[in-house]
Amino acid sequence: MNPVEIVLLYQSLLGIYGDRGNAVVLRERLRARGREAVLRQIEPGQPVPASGAIYLLGGGEDAAQVTAVRQLRQDGRLFAALDAGACLFAVCAGFQITGRSFTVGHDDQVIEGLGLLDVETRRGPRRAVGEVLSRWTKPDGGQSVITGFENHGGHTYLGPEATPLARVEVGVGNNGDGTEGAVQGRIIGCYPHGPVLARNPELADHLLELALGQPLDPLPNPEIDDLRRQRLDWARRHHRR
Ligand code: GLN
Repeated sequence: MNPVEIVLLYQSLLGIYGDRGNAVVLRERLRARGREAVLRQIEPGQPVPASGAIYLLGGGEDAAQVTAVRQLRQDGRLFAALDAGACLFAVCAGFQITGRSFTVGHDDQVIEGLGLLDVETRRGPRRAVGEVLSRWTKPDGGQSVITGFENHGGHTYLGPEATPLARVEVGVGNNGDGTEGAVQGRIIGCYPHGPVLARNPELADHLLELALGQPLDPLPNPEIDDLRRQRLDWARRHHRR
């Protein structure tokens, strides 16, 4: 069996929030189950490989987002890989650029996104900063809570082709309307950093199952469960409105 390829895109542009950890978590959760996995890091100017199973984008500054979206469009291979069945997991700035358009700067310049998710991002009235908890209904109907921290000025609005990933319990999420993240086919975008897949192993495994097309055995880890409980308690006690 070929190793599962995880492709981390443009850390030099979209690497300032530590979302690289999402890629490491995916690789390690595969390896812990005896699957071979490789993590490939691609920088602007390097060709995006077409062979990835999961592609990842992280958070970053406005100017970096503009460069990233131009480079990805110029390269074109991410679109081809997704058409061929790969998954994309995009956080914050990565989520915004995956949509139809987003704005940057104080003059709210509108930049065309990759158009992979039916979402649009515009500057919100105030920056959303802090813990974010959201209730996620898993594909099997079970309930989970996604924990992370958010730090974004953009507010993201979903069009009819995208569905919210989760419902906000604490924090702002997409735009204050109670939705958090977006799902469209095999593309997931969301706001939480953490890295979010380290804080939420069930979400990491969901992404892996989506990419592999098969269920995975659970990987029980009481230490992670305990850390999750502490984080959920803390965020609920320090509830922001
Ligand atoms: N620059 C974007 C915003 O502020 C994204 C920020 C981020 O990736 N954390 O909305």
